[in-house]
Amino acid sequence: MINFSLPDAPSLAPLRKLATERIVILDGAMGTQVQTLGLGEEDFQGDGSYDLKSDLPQKGNNDLLSLTQPKAIEDIHFSFAMAGADIMETNTFSSTTIAQADYGLEHAVHDLNVAGAQVARRAAERAEAEDGRKRYVAGAVGPTNRTASISPDVNDPGYRAVTFNDLRVAYGEQIRGLIAGGADIILIETIFDTLNAKAAIFASFEGFAEAGVRLPVMISGTITDASGRTLSGQTPTAFWHSVMHARPFTVGLNCALGAEAMRPHLAELASVSTSLICAYPNAGLPNAFGQYDETPEQTAAQVGGFAREGLVNVVGGCCGTTPDHIRALADAVAPFAPREVSA
Ligand SMILES: [Zn+2]
Repeated sequence: MINFSLPDAPSLAPLRKLATERIVILDGAMGTQVQTLGLGEEDFQGDGSYDLKSDLPQKGNNDLLSLTQPKAIEDIHFSFAMAGADIMETNTFSSTTIAQADYGLEHAVHDLNVAGAQVARRAAERAEAEDGRKRYVAGAVGPTNRTASISPDVNDPGYRAVTFNDLRVAYGEQIRGLIAGGADIILIETIFDTLNAKAAIFASFEGFAEAGVRLPVMISGTITDASGRTLSGQTPTAFWHSVMHARPFTVGLNCALGAEAMRPHLAELASVSTSLICAYPNAGLPNAFGQYDETPEQTAAQVGGFAREGLVNVVGGCCGTTPDHIRALADAVAPFAPREVSA
């Protein structure tokens, strides 16, 4: 199914070139910035110009804001771009029919993804007009709230809440929307179940075949416990072997336990991967209130350490990271050369 003979997207060559020159900067957390806006239910619903066709409450459905508060989302992207991000992640982490079922918005998935890519693109163009530096839009594809390789029912280990094909169909709809909205990259992130990610990879290449162009794919797993495995039980090396068939532009780790706990797992992945390495940790461990306490300087010092050790090609931030975190970590990695890739 994977067709490598498709022409590469125009974004690939300049991205590859940039990645040979320096460490590339990814943006920080959309959710943390949305929280600072203090939006209520009415704000999430918007002024009615987008017909939701759902009676369910929408507060907390951050992806919807690309449609109902597009200027606010564009401004967040813009602030990350001006803080030094080369790549901005679209506000589409939960824009699949599976995740949007919680809000009765399965029918809106195409619109959410098109709008998510378009608002990030507008911010990218504004930033480029300001300082002349090109920015790239990465269509963010989250893990969904279901897992294809683990049973949620302890009494029925063979049960699955979702199948590979359910995920393939749902991701396919998302990815077509992201491509239609103008995404430069597909970023499959926060992977806790590799089977979900494999469905997203498969759906990406189906979408590329339909569009007649192959976008760079970034793949990012999440190590959720101290044993150094993903939720579906893989070590970083096993994870690499499970996704290398996609020839990703980057493979890496995000979210979870923060930069300090990520370091050994990142080092393992960097020792086996023939793709570029991308790391974007949370701002430390969440506190008792689910908030992240690491200062920009603390996160930047650790991510700067990844760069000093030659482990990374792309760095950014996940939960709890603000434009100040991105500015600080861009400065911290600037003196260091990107990791050398041995093919
Ligand atoms: Zn995170």
